[in-house]
Amino acid sequence: MLTVTDIETFYGPSQALFGVNLSVQAGELVALMGRNGMGKTTTIRSIFGLTPARRGSIEFEAKDLRRLPAYRIAQAGLGLVPEGRRCFPNLSVRENLVATARPGYWSLARVEQLFPRLAERRHQMANTLSGGEQQMLAIGRALMTNPRLLVLDEATEGLAPVIRQEIWSAIRLLKEQGQSTLIVDKSLSELMPVADRCTILEKGRTVWDGHPEALDDDIRDRYLGV
Ligand code: ATP
Repeated sequence: MLTVTDIETFYGPSQALFGVNLSVQAGELVALMGRNGMGKTTTIRSIFGLTPARRGSIEFEAKDLRRLPAYRIAQAGLGLVPEGRRCFPNLSVRENLVATARPGYWSLARVEQLFPRLAERRHQMANTLSGGEQQMLAIGRALMTNPRLLVLDEATEGLAPVIRQEIWSAIRLLKEQGQSTLIVDKSLSELMPVADRCTILEKGRTVWDGHPEALDDDIRDRYLGV
């Protein structure tokens, strides 16, 4: 479904990615991992054309994403939940959900069923929600675009344990429904049982790719610092 091959990405003159390889097959949940500053967010920004890759290729369902402007990439069927859970602050929960909706399996009713808190707060302005509720809203908004590939960057970072659990339950449900997902998260204990495959980045390069069960103590220690 998604194949990223040897991408190199720069911020001005400073190179951040030196050869990232990554793939997601239909129905898979792939975990993109690595310590802080290793290039996970930059890889996601490159896929979405927000910080375009200068070299390498990014193919999604046989489309060359590097040739598409950023606004066309979402239309190609990718949904992003960016780091920092961006919502439209002065729109209500419901308005946020319908603003960029596209027809498909995910409707307002299904998203509100997945996150009952959003149903309870449907008329509240997004900027009055708690951080965890805003994260649910960001995920709900991405689902409402009915993406064939959902990309979550640090979806549970900095949230209260009870909210994190609700978000992980939703992610497990999405996985059961066959949603293809690429996810960046530091919580190995939640991620490992649900991931089909892990890709590890070190200093802007892919250094390991495999099944979570093959992620032994040596690799965890060397690349993840755990
Ligand atoms: P984290 O887990 O801390 O979010 P990450 O793995 O997502 O880290 P990136 O944010 O992709 O890592 O950063 C990769 C490299 O690019 C780092 O060396 C970082 O300092 C650099 N970088 C990130 N954003 C910028 C920017 N806007 N301008 C210049 N360099 C940047």
